[in-house]
Amino acid sequence: MIKKLKIKEYKSGRTGITRLILGGMHGREHEVIKKVLVILKPNPPEGRIIIVPNVNIFGGRYVSMINEDYIKSSAGKLYLSILERYKPDVVVELHVFNSKSYKNLVSSDRIYKKGVPNLVPYRSDLPIEDQILHGGPPPFVKEKFKEHASYITLEIHEKYGKKAEKTLIFILNSVINSNSVIEIRKKLKERYQKSMSEAGRLLQNYVSKDFIKQ
Ligand SMILES: [Zn+2]
Repeated sequence: MIKKLKIKEYKSGRTGITRLILGGMHGREHEVIKKVLVILKPNPPEGRIIIVPNVNIFGGRYVSMINEDYIKSSAGKLYLSILERYKPDVVVELHVFNSKSYKNLVSSDRIYKKGVPNLVPYRSDLPIEDQILHGGPPPFVKEKFKEHASYITLEIHEKYGKKAEKTLIFILNSVINSNSVIEIRKKLKERYQKSMSEAGRLLQNYVSKDFIKQ
């Protein structure tokens, strides 16, 4: 099945970390994501970059990544096989939100309702079309990616503005051009200190406890 997938690999020719960028996890998200991905010119200084622009090649009904059923779905199995094959040091998951889903994604009781922390905007002062939301790994890989910024879940608005695009490109280029998780985190902290601290705190809580859904 993995043969049918479009996978782009950018090698530096030097040893180093593997960064995996995944898009199109759900429905038609890939149509939005691809408009941003074409802007990138990946040229890693060390290691390699793997980009899979459309993971959900099966289509089908929406299964949330945080739902236990996700890993049992075809898309979920494919997702795990990609992780198994490339053994990434850093994963970036790209998703698309809309004005309706925004509130649930950012509200602090998400940890109790869904078992995962709320996402945090890099810039909460902007209109939501210009925000990029970020968070950590889904539940089934949280043991593998405990380090803040080793697994970055990102959400962009379906009708995103110029500022959102700029932010997303900055985040992706920070991942592409850094040679360690520490370097990625440092670059993101320099620009989004408050937001990074908040997301780091939420992640720490999340990986150290098992939250019971209410
Ligand atoms: Zn999604």
